[in-house]
Amino acid sequence: MTTMRTLFLNPPSFAGFDGGAGARYQATREIKSFWFPTWLAQPAAMIPNSKLIDAPADDIPLAQVVQMARGFDLCVIHTSTPSFDNDAKVAERLKQEYPKMLIGFVGAHVAVLPEESLTASKAIDFVGREEFDYTLLEVAQGRPFGEIDGISYRLNGAVVHNKDRALIDDMDSLPSVLDVYKRDLAVENYYIGYLQHPYVSLYTGRGCPARCTFCLWPQTVGGHVYRTKSAEAVIAEMAKAKEYFPQVKEFFFDDDTFTADLPRAAAIAKGLGKLGITWSCNSRANVPYEYLKTFKENGLRLLLVGYESGNQQVLNNIKKGIRLDIAREFTKNCRKLGIVIHGTFILGLPGETKETIAQTSKFACELDVETIQVSLAAAYPGTELYRQSTQNGWFKKDEMVRNDGTQAATIEYPGILSAREINDSVARMYSKFYFRPRPIGRMLVSMAKDPLERKRRLREGAEFLRYLWGRQKPKAAQPAVAEREQVLA
Ligand code: SF4
Repeated sequence: MTTMRTLFLNPPSFAGFDGGAGARYQATREIKSFWFPTWLAQPAAMIPNSKLIDAPADDIPLAQVVQMARGFDLCVIHTSTPSFDNDAKVAERLKQEYPKMLIGFVGAHVAVLPEESLTASKAIDFVGREEFDYTLLEVAQGRPFGEIDGISYRLNGAVVHNKDRALIDDMDSLPSVLDVYKRDLAVENYYIGYLQHPYVSLYTGRGCPARCTFCLWPQTVGGHVYRTKSAEAVIAEMAKAKEYFPQVKEFFFDDDTFTADLPRAAAIAKGLGKLGITWSCNSRANVPYEYLKTFKENGLRLLLVGYESGNQQVLNNIKKGIRLDIAREFTKNCRKLGIVIHGTFILGLPGETKETIAQTSKFACELDVETIQVSLAAAYPGTELYRQSTQNGWFKKDEMVRNDGTQAATIEYPGILSAREINDSVARMYSKFYFRPRPIGRMLVSMAKDPLERKRRLREGAEFLRYLWGRQKPKAAQPAVAEREQVLA
C-alpha cells in the first residue's frame, strides 16, 4: 500500500525549548537539555519514507524547516500547552508555502482540547487524539477521515470528533524507534545534565499505575495500565542499540515508571548485564533493596526519582502514594549500592506553604542525592490538578512559560502563598542544595577525573548561574521562533 510522504516535526520554538515529543514538562531548562522526540519517532518508524525533524535539538530555524518540508504530503507536528500558539504559527507558515500539505497536530494538549485547537488555526487540518501511532498510519495510508478512530477534524464548517482510538495492547507489535533515530537524528545533540553524554532515551512501555494529580501523560495519552514490550523484545532491541550507537555511554528507559513491573525490570536488567550496557530509568522511591541490587549488578547507573515534596500531607494531596520514611530508606539503599539518583521536586503543589517549601528544601539536602531538579507546579489541561486549580481559583495567569521559554509560576494559593513566592523559592532551593560542600566536592572530583566532563560541567555551571540570576528578574521580551522570524521577514 502506498503511503503519503510524511514529515514528523518537533517545531522550532523558544531558544533551547525542550518540547513535548519527549519532555514531560515542556520548557527551556536550567541547562541545555533535550529529550529524544520518541512520541514522533514511534509513528515515524511505522510509515515508510517518513522523516523526523527535531528543530530545537538540531537548532534548525523556521526558514530552513520550511525548505526541508518541500515535497511532503503530510506534516505531523507535536505540540504542547506552552508552545501551542507558536506551533500553530509554524503550521500556518507551512500551509502558506505548501497549501496542499495536510497538517495534523498531536500531543496531550490537542488530545484534551481538540475543538479549541482546530478552531485556533485553519492551518491545522486534523488532530490525533489519545495514542496516535496507528491513527497517523491510517491517515498516511489515505483512509478517509470518517473511517479513522481518534481524529478530530473540520467538516462543512463544524468540528467532528471520531470515536476514541483504543489503547495499544500489543506493544511488541510496535517497531523499534532506533532506526528512525539512526536515520534522522544527531545523537550527539541530545543532552540531559545528569546523564552521561552521548545518551539515548527510548520507551519499553507506556502508562503508569500511579495517580499523581499533576502528572500529564498517564491522565491524557498513556493511561494507568503499564503496557509493556516483553523482556525478550527489549533485550533484542538493546543489542541493536549497542550496535547502532557504539559511541553512546548510557541508555535511558523513559517509561513513566520503568520499575512499575519489578520482575520484568529484573529480567530486562539481567539481559542488559550480559550485553554490558550502562542504563538508567525513571523510578518511584519505593523499590525494594533486592531489586535495586539486581539492577546495579546488571549495569544500572542512575535512577530518576520523583520525590516531589518533603511534606507528607502535600504528597497525600497529590496522591503520590509514597511515604517519606520509605523514600528515605530507598535512598539509603541506593547510596549503599552505588546507584546515583537524580531527584525531582515540585514547589507550589496543593497544600504548599512557606513551611512545607522549607521542609522540601531540607529533605532534599538530607537525602543528598547526586543532582536535583526543582520545578514549579504546572497544571496542564486534562489533569486533576488543572481541574482543582480551575475550581478553587488558584490560577494566577495562563502562560505556562515566560517569554524566554522557562517555566512560569501559574498557580498560587490566595492568602497563603503567592505565585511570586513560589517562583522565588525555586532559586533558593537550588542554591541551598548546590552551594553545600558535598555537591561542590562531587562536582570537582568528576571534573578532575575527566577533561570532557570538566568542559561540560563548566558550560552547565555557567548556564545554571545565568538561570538562577534570570529567575530573580523579569525578562526582556523574547518571542518564540515563529514570531521572531515573522518579525524579521
Ligand atoms: S509515578 Fe511518576 S509517572 Fe506515574 S503518575 Fe506519578 S509522577 Fe506520573
